[in-house]
Order: sequence, then C-alpha cells, then structure tokens
Amino acid sequence: MRLVHTPAEFREACDEARRAGQRVGFVPTMGALHEGHLALVREARKHAQLVCVSIFVNEAQFGPNEDFSRYPRDLAGDAEKLRGASADLLFAPAAAAMYEEGEATRVRVSRLTEVLCGPFRPGHFEGVTTVVAKLLGLAGSSVAVFGRKDYQQLAVIRRMVKDLYMPVEIVGHPIIREESGLALSSRNAYLSADERARALSLSRGLRKASAAFASGERSATALRGLVHAEVVANADSIDYVDVADPDTLSVFSADVASGAPPSVGARALVAIACRVGKTRLIDNTVLGEDVLA
Ligand code: AMP
Repeated sequence: MRLVHTPAEFREACDEARRAGQRVGFVPTMGALHEGHLALVREARKHAQLVCVSIFVNEAQFGPNEDFSRYPRDLAGDAEKLRGASADLLFAPAAAAMYEEGEATRVRVSRLTEVLCGPFRPGHFEGVTTVVAKLLGLAGSSVAVFGRKDYQQLAVIRRMVKDLYMPVEIVGHPIIREESGLALSSRNAYLSADERARALSLSRGLRKASAAFASGERSATALRGLVHAEVVANADSIDYVDVADPDTLSVFSADVASGAPPSVGARALVAIACRVGKTRLIDNTVLGEDVLA
C-alpha cells in the first residue's frame, strides 16, 4: 500500500489508474479505523481496481465544544489495518494541504442539513460537504463508499454529488455492529464499561421498533416511543429520537391541519443522537429495509 501526503500525489495516482483503464474506489475517513471502515474498503474493492482511503480529521466539521483535539489518531495502526484489508493507497494530508492559504470556498447543502443532527451541530454539515467536495475533486471520476451509520451525511453527500454533477458514484454500506448490537464507531473508544453497557440502549431501541414495525405497527409516535423509552432510561441527554422519511429526511409529525397522528409508509428512518457520558452517539435503522438481528 502506498502512503501519500500531498493532494497532487493523490490526484496523480488516481489519474494514472484511470489512464491504465482502472476504476478508482475511494473511502474517505477520519481514521481510528475499525471493522466498519474496513467493510467500506472491501466494498470499494468490488467496484474498483485502485482502492484509496483518506484519513483526515477535518477541524471544520467539529463545533467549538466538540472533540476535535482529543479525537483518536493512530496513523501507523490505521495503515497496518488498511494493508490487511488490501487497500492500495492511503492519502493522509496535513490540514494546511486541504485548506491552503487563501482558500475561500464553502459547500453548503440546504434542507437535508436542517433536520436531525443539523440544528444540534451548526456548521457541521458545511464542514463535511466542503472537505468531501475537495476530496472527491482530487479523486476525480470514481466510486466513493460511505457508511449508513452516518445516514444523514450519506444523504447530504448524495445530494451534493448530484447537484454539482460530480463524476462520482456514491455507494452506501450497511452499518457494521458488534455482536452486542452496538454500532462500531471511533468514538466508542471514549466509553467506560458502564457507558458502553448503557450505549446498548440505542440498538436495543431500534430493534424494538423494528420488531413492532414487522408486526404491523405504523404509528410514527408509537415507533418513536419504543426507541425513546430505551434511550431516555440510559443516556445522559438526548438530542433527538426521530422517525423520518428515509429519502427527504423530513420528520413524521402530526398533521398540522387535522391533528391526525402520523403514520409511516413502507419504509421509515428511525434515527437517534444522544450523549452517554460525554460521548455523542448516533445510530439509525430504516424500517422496512434494514434487518436488525
Ligand atoms: P468516520 O471516520 O467516522 O468519519 O467515518 C468514515 C466512514 O465510515 C463514513 O462513511 C462512516 O459512515 C463510515 N462508518 C463509520 N462507522 C461505521 C459502521 N459502524 N458501519 C458502517 N460504516 C461506518
């Protein structure tokens, strides 16, 4: 596996692969890699002959009181894991290379960023879309793989790529979970044993909603209630537990005119963001689509 640090080297490697008739696969990450990230790398391999991974902890997507400075960083360990997953190239740029002196462009997607995590993390999605636009600009024509763990991020990136005619096919990969149900996350490293046990309430709540949906429950209020009950009993604070349209992300709420309780269709996104201890955790499932064991 080749390790490159400059945008020019990354672009040249991708161009060279395309000149040789290869497809480029790309997995952008912030490092502290786990099996969830490696599943994306293996997925990229199904679509491409040159599989590239980037590791860049993008300060622009962290709020002032978020965990940018203590976010786990382990480039040597990550490189080892990527070699094990047969990645071909690791792009690990310095902050000054991704945000050059004089740069002045920000990419902002509206609507999809105004719900769920949007109001709780002002500026977050603008930070994400700006850096992903830069990274996809360097990768060029390619297949980029993102996890459904960050469901809203995936929807926002799909929108950006479509709206800006970027020559990139976006592939969404299912959430990789521990046996316990806990969705893998670099931030799980922050959890104490007690917090880890309480963090299981997220997937437990989603499983309950999933079982209820399978038994015919279609009330958004009831489905949300099942998840909320689990999370509220275990988390230290909740940003949201929402049931939303999986495509538009608009939240199911009572019909304003009639006050009729909301009912979901054939598919519904159930999404959670909460804090366990100081750690912000997110999880989700699409009822009618994902299988939660
Ligand atoms: P991050 O390094 O947290 O920015 O994540 C990089 C990519 O890995 C994003 O597309 C995430 O959605 C994806 N990812 C993180 N955790 C998981 C997981 N447990 N299952 C699937 N994809 C994941």
